[in-house]
Amino acid sequence: MNRIENEATVEQRKNDLWEKAQKSELIERLKAGESLQDIMDSFLSQVKNVFTKLKRIACSDGRVFPVNGDAKLGIAGEGILLDEDALTCFINECIRQGVEGVDSHDDCGAAGAAFKEDAKGEATADDLGKTFAKKLSDRAAIDYGHIALKDMTGEIHNERVLCLDGTGMFNPGALLEGNKMPGHFLCSGCGFGLGAEYIKKEVPILTGIALGHGFEGRFDEKDNKFIIIISAKDNEQLAEMTEVTEKAVEKYGDRVEVKGFVHNIEA
Ligand SMILES: [Zn+2]
Repeated sequence: MNRIENEATVEQRKNDLWEKAQKSELIERLKAGESLQDIMDSFLSQVKNVFTKLKRIACSDGRVFPVNGDAKLGIAGEGILLDEDALTCFINECIRQGVEGVDSHDDCGAAGAAFKEDAKGEATADDLGKTFAKKLSDRAAIDYGHIALKDMTGEIHNERVLCLDGTGMFNPGALLEGNKMPGHFLCSGCGFGLGAEYIKKEVPILTGIALGHGFEGRFDEKDNKFIIIISAKDNEQLAEMTEVTEKAVEKYGDRVEVKGFVHNIEA
């Protein structure tokens, strides 16, 4: 296939994925004017494990889910973008909460960003990502695995929304079945010892992927904004996370919208 045909095919596949996302129950109900809180409450009454123990660390990437079927604790590049203090904090909290494993994956954008900054003697970005995740698994004394491209949901970024969770238990992957939730990034760090600095670094990078080489120009400033969905354990946390997130994505203007809902986690 020549390059032009190839590009046309990619655009067609993106159009198909976009149509599927537009037809997801979440997007259709938001467009109809329903509140995110009401929509999520109704999903919770219909689907099991929307809030559950997150057992396995994997990339925020919407195409990546643990191969063994465990609920994903999403963080960009499995934490490769964190500085040493934040990483230590994250690992300690993962140990405390009983996280069981970590998976690196092929074609990781976060590993690519880290590789550009410092290759640390590795030949490729994916090698750097694998080495990082292996080290993390050693430090936390948890299982390590790798998700190959063939085990990802596809090669094309399909993220229509970004889920930023503060409860440490939000598992939006459970809502993919029946197309309730569209393809999404999942950032779980705020439930695992990380805060404003994490949001400021991770959320703009992922938003840039969606607006840049994901669905890109299909997002607009009117009915088709890229939506950041914050899940929080109470109104106070929701207000704090919303404020930080809105500032963090200000540079993207009106193509991005921050929405939130509250789910009380029983201690
Ligand atoms: Zn990744």
